[in-house]
Amino acid sequence: MPLPTDAELHAVQASDAANVANATADSRSHDAPTIPQPDAEAAAPHSTHAPETAGAHCGNCTRCIGACPTGAIVAPYQVDARRCISYLTIELKGSIPQDLRPLIGNRVYGCDDCQLVCPWNKFAQAAPVDDFDVRHGLDRASLVELFEWTEDEFDTRLQGSAIRRIGYACWLRNLAVGMGNALRSTTLPAEAREAIVEALRRRADDTSPLVREHVQWALEAA
Ligand code: SF4
Ligand code: SF4
Repeated sequence: MPLPTDAELHAVQASDAANVANATADSRSHDAPTIPQPDAEAAAPHSTHAPETAGAHCGNCTRCIGACPTGAIVAPYQVDARRCISYLTIELKGSIPQDLRPLIGNRVYGCDDCQLVCPWNKFAQAAPVDDFDVRHGLDRASLVELFEWTEDEFDTRLQGSAIRRIGYACWLRNLAVGMGNALRSTTLPAEAREAIVEALRRRADDTSPLVREHVQWALEAA
């Protein structure tokens, strides 16, 4: 899929993956944000006759802009999708730009950071529908464990999950980026480093050129 041009940039709601990112292997945590109060206008009840316009309720808040790991929110209400981790790990089918890989961290399917810091989301309730529950322990799985899934395991364990639609090669691509970033960390324990390097080496000759390229990039930090 070709990258969009500047002219094709849209002000988008950045977290279409919000409901599925709970199923990532991303084990990051966030400090509890200080929740700013939305401005008085935003807090006022809306007329049922007034048209709803997206993105007009931020007041002076800029939390999401500061929280975005890749600087994808380039201005209020404007996302450069080419830098958004949700685009890079879900929609992009080819190679992830090398300069953005270190910024992705261990987010292997989407990103919710802008949602996590948004004060409006303090009103959000957990969905009562089972489909939104974490499946197969994906919130506790290690990158190495997931990287060792066979294609059959990928297809079976992610049946019914939105993650499955990216396909096995992109799944491995994303995991390889996360593992490469782990290897670039100075705080990674030696045992974990060894396990990651061994797992990556086992896929150095993967049949997918996309996977091989990302594995090679990851191993450059071994
Ligand atoms: S915080 Fe994450 S989901 Fe939001 S715009 Fe940035 S990269 Fe995309
Ligand atoms: S964090 Fe939420 S309220 Fe604040 S600027 Fe971003 S979208 Fe608006």
